[in-house]
Amino acid sequence: MTDCIFCKIARGEIPSRKVYEDEDILAFHDINPLAPVHFMIIPKVHVANLYDGDMSHQAVLGKILGKAGELARSQGLDDGFRLIVNTGRISHQEVYHLHVHILGGPEVLGPMLKR
Ligand code: AMP
Ligand code: ZN
Repeated sequence: MTDCIFCKIARGEIPSRKVYEDEDILAFHDINPLAPVHFMIIPKVHVANLYDGDMSHQAVLGKILGKAGELARSQGLDDGFRLIVNTGRISHQEVYHLHVHILGGPEVLGPMLKR
């Protein structure tokens, strides 16, 4: 995907505040943070979201979750954190390149969803 913003970030064509990178995944801080610590982990391969994902993405999705704790610890999230994976219109997904948000910080996060 040539004009996907997260593909461009993954290729280094758009700068990001990097948390971690390897051959399969990239983690970088959200440009508009919703918590004191807010970064996301993306696969370098383009897939729009989990709706479009399939078992061909199993390894990279496993790697993203497998790295989450280490990367959260590297950002000081020792009291816990929340993962959010917005998927499609009803979740208000804005960027259609799969990303796992990691949010945390000193204050307790609000409820998962408003009742
Ligand atoms: P979502 O609603 O789950 O699609 O969230 C997309 C997120 O990407 C938002 O929280 C944006 O602030 C973030 N975002 C958009 N452009 C950039 C960028 N260039 N660098 C870092 N984060 C970005
Ligand atoms: Zn992309």
